Amino acid sequence: MVSPARKLVIRNIGLMLSGALEQPILDGDTVVSIDGKIAGIGHEKDLDTGNPDTLIDAHGTALSPGLIDSHVHPVIGDYTPRQQQVNWIDSCLHGGVTTMISAGEVHLPGRPKDIVGLKAMAIASQRWYENFRPSGVKVHAGAPVIEEGMEEQDFKDMAEAGVTLLGEVGLGSVKAGDKAKLMVAWARKYGIQSTIHTGGPSIPGSGLIDKDVVLEADADIIGHINGGHTALPDDQIVCLCESCKRGIELVHNGNERAALLAMRTAFELGQSERVILGTDAPAGSGVQPLGILRMIAMLSSLGDIPAETAFCFATGNTARMRGLDCGLIETGKAADFILIDTAQHAPGKDMLDSIHQGNLPGVGMTVIDGAIRSTRSRNTPPATRLPEQVK
Ligand SMILES: [Zn+2]
Repeated sequence: MVSPARKLVIRNIGLMLSGALEQPILDGDTVVSIDGKIAGIGHEKDLDTGNPDTLIDAHGTALSPGLIDSHVHPVIGDYTPRQQQVNWIDSCLHGGVTTMISAGEVHLPGRPKDIVGLKAMAIASQRWYENFRPSGVKVHAGAPVIEEGMEEQDFKDMAEAGVTLLGEVGLGSVKAGDKAKLMVAWARKYGIQSTIHTGGPSIPGSGLIDKDVVLEADADIIGHINGGHTALPDDQIVCLCESCKRGIELVHNGNERAALLAMRTAFELGQSERVILGTDAPAGSGVQPLGILRMIAMLSSLGDIPAETAFCFATGNTARMRGLDCGLIETGKAADFILIDTAQHAPGKDMLDSIHQGNLPGVGMTVIDGAIRSTRSRNTPPATRLPEQVK
């Protein structure tokens, strides 16, 4: 594993995106991190930038918190059996994603569905992603798919063993609202966060979860409220937004029109802090290395919201909702950054305007825990300007 630079300085930042909805753009041109945590934000002249171990000249590019994919289905390492792909996580890093959250390791061939087996797999999955970060990406995994017959003690056992997430409720045999509600509450009691599959079946073997089940189960996140892939009818999506305060998760592997409806409803309710983004990859529609950037551009352009607001959905909103120490440019948070710029020859007066017109930005560099993890993206359109490691 790459060890973080003791002191990292990024100077000449042209635009600083904070990840925080209340102030999405910060004043400043420089960020300093010490031992992988943000230690200084502002103007170079006001900060202690002396003797850095690593010095990056941003050359006027924009800095954003590293993107968080709130909904992935990893299995092991940087390999997915779903579409027989290797290095898919590395490919997503090149799309600006520095943190991923598992919604269940459902694609493991022969996935155990007996209770002792599923608990063992959850604990093992949590461990192997904690011990091995593909290309440096933080993968929060070990998200069991709950099955009938589980008891409170099972949730207590898993929590004590380090499990912090449930896989999508509804992908296992627990599909009724009352049973799901009981297990979600047990999970919550022991500090395990939950998400629920919303919408029609995703692939053969999964089932319909409608608004009544979602509301009764009361999971922390309304997983892919825009369907994964098939969405619920519009009135049910609006009802879900209005009837609870849980996370409104919009995914790339879903219905885009339904995503726009859910986002607009959240704004009408004055609750845009509930909107978070995921890809739901790998899935039947494959892996989307640029999926989070594409969601940002889609929501900003078709939904007509400022691009800097859309970035918050994929950074600070998700971090706050899921209790992560990243996703915000704030002192003490993890030094997880991406440096991005307008794509070459893309229209728009600046990067934010270009994204608002529906174009992806180019990723020039990613930094995780204060260490450079990738330079010019092999996947995004090339950025007009590129940051440079000076030291
Ligand atoms: Zn799903």
